[in-house]
Amino acid sequence: MADAPIIILFRQDLRIADNPALASAAAAGQPVVPVYVLDDEAAGAWAAGGASRWWLHHSLVSLSLSLERLGAPLVLRRGRTVDALLALARETGARTIHLTRAYEPFAARLEQDLEARARTASIAVRRFAGSLLAEPEALRTKDGRPFRVFTPFWRALQASVNLPPLATTPRRLTPVATRPRSDDLASWRLLPTRPDWAGGLRAEWQPGETGAAKRLDAFLGTGLEGYATQRDRPDIAGTSQLSPYLHFGEVSPRQCWHALDAARQREPSVAAGAASFLRELGWREFSVHLLHNWPSIPEAPFRAQFADFPWEPDAALRRELFAAWSRGRTGYPIVDAGMRQLWETGWMHNRVRMITASFLTKHLLIPWQDGARWFWDTLVDADLANNSASWQWVAGSGADAAPYFRVFNPVLQGLKFDPDGAYVRRFVPELARLADKDLHAPWMANDDALARAGVTLGKTYPRPIVDHDFGRRRALEAFATIKTDAPAPDAA
Ligand code: FAD
Repeated sequence: MADAPIIILFRQDLRIADNPALASAAAAGQPVVPVYVLDDEAAGAWAAGGASRWWLHHSLVSLSLSLERLGAPLVLRRGRTVDALLALARETGARTIHLTRAYEPFAARLEQDLEARARTASIAVRRFAGSLLAEPEALRTKDGRPFRVFTPFWRALQASVNLPPLATTPRRLTPVATRPRSDDLASWRLLPTRPDWAGGLRAEWQPGETGAAKRLDAFLGTGLEGYATQRDRPDIAGTSQLSPYLHFGEVSPRQCWHALDAARQREPSVAAGAASFLRELGWREFSVHLLHNWPSIPEAPFRAQFADFPWEPDAALRRELFAAWSRGRTGYPIVDAGMRQLWETGWMHNRVRMITASFLTKHLLIPWQDGARWFWDTLVDADLANNSASWQWVAGSGADAAPYFRVFNPVLQGLKFDPDGAYVRRFVPELARLADKDLHAPWMANDDALARAGVTLGKTYPRPIVDHDFGRRRALEAFATIKTDAPAPDAA
């Protein structure tokens, strides 16, 4: 039916620009029905966490406004995605459903279910690529297997990227004659009940496509040139902070790539920064490649021998240590600053993510899965591929993981990457008056220095919950009990 409406399912592609699923429907000239379905059941244990729900709410507000302006308002439905889409097709007479591929195991399963059930109802499903630079099936080693090591993966990706022009941004969409029923977004209760928490998120972020474009522009203007040298410094706003926008698809990696190319041509001095930034986008692609090929990585160690890793056996102690870590009360200022940044802003600098994750899994011997869960609930950029792959990378159990013997020393990391203490002073204000030399190890400061800074250890700020040397030794002993050089597993 040439004039039958096309349903466009939005998921992690909450944008109008460079959205092939939307552009193709608009180009067909048929009426369109844009829809977002809140389907917690499909995602199961990986339904969006608190910070992601806050983001999603605001992103949907932004997308609704954009679609309303284009003439076809967004329909909101809640429940099982496939049921909701088929019901919407019945109501509107749609014969085609467009969607952008997603790569979480549950999202991929959903696409298969949808295709099967739509076929029986004579509805066509068209899946578009729109969230990656290269589809995960496209890249293979010489012997036809998925990559397990980043560098050859990145080489292959760069060689294969044949960047097509961006998808056309529609200027106008044709709505269906009768506006379909839509849920009231507020009734989904995506916003947190703790208003003080949301306050911190609001101050930091503008979810949605406009916010994404502003963030990208700002980064190109002021961050890109120094990115290669400053990206490890949490005290400097040296990274793009595009991660939540990329996760929700409010900007596509192809848009980033094109923008960087243009910046490189305008200003050759940004070349090193652009190359370094693209490599980070490469890590994002690699994480998806891993999740696609090894769908158990959110739950199980990539290297099976890590299933026997001797984590802290005392459950009560584990709970106590985890509470101290998650609240930013470990007694290590750089760790505490990171965990508080996460709680206050829904984001944490990459270097500090590595330090805090190393501290949890190595100094405290708490399973990486517990840390990944906490991040899942508190990060605005919580992303199943990036979060799982990164936690496993730090814990040593992942593909191409950090060497197991690398146990970050939180004091040295603090001194190196937050040399003037600006980061710690911002997020751990009770230490702000300590001198730079004492800031990253307050327990080493003499009594006078502590008194002058108004710090009473054990009272205004905790003593370290574990001694670094002891923690390091114990972690290495734990690693020695498992065979860390066993071969990595075959893909699923
Ligand atoms: P930039 O430095 O500006 O990088 C640009 C983009 O590249 C990022 O937005 C992101 O999409 C991607 N990227 C950068 N570093 C990585 C990386 N190491 N792995 C994969 N992609 C990367 N990132 C998430 O998006 N979601 C997560 O849930 C997540 N969990 C993490 C958990 C741990 C323990 C660690 C160590 C890292 C995690 N990361 C995660 C990766 C990384 O920390 C963030 O992507 C980055 O800090 C986001 O900040 P940015 O946008 O300023 O990054």
